[in-house]
Amino acid sequence: MQEENIEEYLAKHYIHKSNWLRAAVLGANDGILSTASLAIGVAAASSSRDAVVLATVAGLVAGALSMAAGEYVSVSSQTDVEKADIEREKQELIDMPEIELQRLAEIYEQRGLKKDTALIVAKELTAHDALGAHVRDELGINDISQAKPLQAAFASGAAFTAGGVLPLIVALFFPEEGMQYYLYGSAIMVLILLGVIAAKIGGSSIPKAIFRVTFWGTVAMGLTSLVGHWFGVNLV
Ligand SMILES: [Zn+2]
Repeated sequence: MQEENIEEYLAKHYIHKSNWLRAAVLGANDGILSTASLAIGVAAASSSRDAVVLATVAGLVAGALSMAAGEYVSVSSQTDVEKADIEREKQELIDMPEIELQRLAEIYEQRGLKKDTALIVAKELTAHDALGAHVRDELGINDISQAKPLQAAFASGAAFTAGGVLPLIVALFFPEEGMQYYLYGSAIMVLILLGVIAAKIGGSSIPKAIFRVTFWGTVAMGLTSLVGHWFGVNLV
């Protein structure tokens, strides 16, 4: 394989891997932030470890399942769209094969082939696997981009759980006295780490990522603590 093809191939696969990594980092981010905020809110309202652990487990399970369900629904609808597009393409290939051949040749021309070469390539690929060529080159659906709802749902539920386990460990094993601060401190530290990883993957500014995740993490956990404290004082 020529040098630039290898780079193109690696870049394509790196992009695919980095998309998954980014989704996993963001999922874990959600898991930490929403579970830790919930735990901090309950810890602010009551100092009993049992109440905090119970709320953390409930938040973790509910959050992971709702993330997985949401991902499954959204990716499934993408799959439905892809399937409908493929069915339409199949019909167009039957109804107007000549126009479809021209369309394919135009796509190859736009990619840099000479008019004659583009038509030859289009004819040969059509003879070999017409639908495959149109799905890949006209609709842009390929095995890498094809939506896999169950895989996506599992990945996002698992990422959320991986993040949410941290506050649960803190709620189970750290001292009850000052539990909120242990929850906040541990969550912020891991959020910063994840922020750095996401910035590195995306090639974006690390200081900005650290500031953003620290600021919004503190706002979310701080406000939940206030609400929890208020409930603790006025209602519990
Ligand atoms: Zn077509």
